[in-house]
Amino acid sequence: VAGRHPEEQRLVIIGGGGAGLAAAVEAAEKGIKDITVVEKKAVVGGTSAIAGGIFACQSPVQERLGIPSDSSQLFKKAMDWAHWENVRPEVLRAFINKSGQTIRWLEDKGLEFDLIAFYPHQMPPVQHNPRGLGAALIRLLQKECLNHGVRILCRTAAHKIIRGEDGAVAAIECLADGQITTLPCRSIIIASGGFSGNKELMRRYFPHLKDGLLLSGLPLKGDGIFLAEAAGAAIENTATIIKEGPRFHIHQWPLLALERNPVTLWVNRRGERFTDESLGYHIFESVNPIMRQPEMACFTLLDGSLRRYFEENIGRLTNRRMGDAPSVIHDTLEKGFSQGVSQGTIKMAASWAEIAAWIGAESEVLTATIRRYNEFARQGQDADFVKDRQFLLPLTEPPFYAVRDLVVQLDTIGGIRIDEKMRVMDPRDQAIAGLLAAGVVTSGWESEIYCSELSASAFGFSVNSGRIAAETAAAYLAQL
Ligand SMILES: Cc1cc2nc3c(=O)[nH]c(=O)nc-3n(C[C@H](O)[C@H](O)[C@H](O)COP(=O)(O)OP(=O)(O)OC[C@H]3O[C@@H](n4cnc5c(N)ncnc54)[C@H](O)[C@@H]3O)c2cc1C
Repeated sequence: VAGRHPEEQRLVIIGGGGAGLAAAVEAAEKGIKDITVVEKKAVVGGTSAIAGGIFACQSPVQERLGIPSDSSQLFKKAMDWAHWENVRPEVLRAFINKSGQTIRWLEDKGLEFDLIAFYPHQMPPVQHNPRGLGAALIRLLQKECLNHGVRILCRTAAHKIIRGEDGAVAAIECLADGQITTLPCRSIIIASGGFSGNKELMRRYFPHLKDGLLLSGLPLKGDGIFLAEAAGAAIENTATIIKEGPRFHIHQWPLLALERNPVTLWVNRRGERFTDESLGYHIFESVNPIMRQPEMACFTLLDGSLRRYFEENIGRLTNRRMGDAPSVIHDTLEKGFSQGVSQGTIKMAASWAEIAAWIGAESEVLTATIRRYNEFARQGQDADFVKDRQFLLPLTEPPFYAVRDLVVQLDTIGGIRIDEKMRVMDPRDQAIAGLLAAGVVTSGWESEIYCSELSASAFGFSVNSGRIAAETAAAYLAQL
């Protein structure tokens, strides 16, 4: 293959996740003949392979459902959410503008999507879940790569980016089987994912972060940030953790539907309530007040009547249409509770005093919390955190339940400074010729707190920025 295609036109993509594979397919479609994806792990997919869906607006799915979604309004929402800080408007704009067309691009290749309302009343819903989720999207892109003759080298890690005397990308050093090989190329797209597994970077970006977040994504090391930095790129000094909570240890339906449900009551290890529980609809923000509690501990409380109410109203409360009969919901929920009790992550008790002992709280503190909350429920007014009265239900009927919660880290966003064409910038804000970046290894499109309104923007940005980076690479290679 190397003999047939001039190396001057070669594109190398670092990382075979959502961003890298989307870039490879787009690059092939744009006519780049010699494309190599180097993937450090034994298989492609990265964190994208375990993701749910991708953000899009003005998509064919929304159009078919008659759901108006306006890219300008969503752009404004996201910028306001970020307080116009740490986000480059032109980068965010490029992503949002591309997103609807990307759904068409994927549908044309055979992928089907469900449009998900990420929380009740989200308008417009923007999360497009492929049937088969992230794994299906990755499989599709991998297949397209094979069809286009893209070379995918697994167990091959990018080691160094080499720039020529003119400053432009000239080659890449890769490490495979303990051997370093140099591959001449004129363009590189860095798509190496986040840095959740790199303690040094986690400390550098989040110095005040306490231990205790459970990583549910891959412990990637942020290689792309070091590779780009060594090649002269500007590295931003802010980043985002995609975190969510509270999460239950047993992650199975319908117990899962109680997680973050606003009809429950949340307390810390001292037995004190600390937030409006309907914040749970905003899964990425609800973890913030929990992280301020002692040892980041949170317990979800409910009683017998609340459980019954939940079982009867599960469809409405979870914003999902439920096909199961109430008795089936009751029995499977019972199974989940029993499993939690035997694993020590759920406590069922006849009194709040027993629950307090299990949590490690003073019994008087917990019972005072419950008494106060029940009074709010009776009055229909939450004088502490102003929870909507429709979610204020008293907890009076044994058995009482406490569920030990987790706070979870999905991925990180940030590092390499890019412009709207996904070109990697140097500290003087000049593009480095031939060098591009895509996916969560980049900065400039997400604020400090991951935005629920633009749900699925991490995976969404990966796929869209991968495509944009490939378009830029194609235009660059064409004019050499
Ligand atoms: C459980 C879970 C659910 C999620 N659900 C969603 C969701 O529904 N919507 C959403 O938007 N986001 C979701 N996310 C987050 C999202 O999946 C990721 O942030 C996003 O997909 C990252 O895509 P990426 O292409 O940038 O990186 P990745 O998909 O992680 O790919 C990076 C690839 O680069 C490779 N690599 C790293 N270093 C090197 C090197 N030196 N050389 C070669 N290869 C290298 C890695 O091995 C990896 O394969 C979820 C995350 C988790 C954990």
